[in-house]
Amino acid sequence: MKLPVVVAGVVILLAGIGGAIYGAIAWAAASARAVACTFSGALPECLAQAAAHAAFAATVSSIFGTLAIVGLVVLIVGAVLREPAAAGPAVPMAQPAPPPVPMASTAPCPRCGRPLRAVPQYGRWFCDAEQTYV
Ligand SMILES: [Zn+2]
Repeated sequence: MKLPVVVAGVVILLAGIGGAIYGAIAWAAASARAVACTFSGALPECLAQAAAHAAFAATVSSIFGTLAIVGLVVLIVGAVLREPAAAGPAVPMAQPAPPPVPMASTAPCPRCGRPLRAVPQYGRWFCDAEQTYV
């Protein structure tokens, strides 16, 4: 049960890191293009385009960075959850309700001292020797 959580955490973490790296690279490329714009003719348009790309890349990077953090949390939670599972046995299945405590099957008759027989449906004791309830 816990292993999928760890695997999911690793996948999310790696995806987040990959996306964040991609965003960072795209941001760097957009920044480099913004610098290159300085040497080109159409400076304002070129800069605006590069800035938009850089902003988009930064957004992507932050989203995936958040995803990576989420993945890390999931991974840690999954790893922590594994500890008790490894230490203790699986949660026991619900125990069937124990039978009601039976009346003691043997008790001395207060009159003759012979063993009495419990009669649960009447909640009373029956003395077999005297053929009577006590
Ligand atoms: Zn008796």
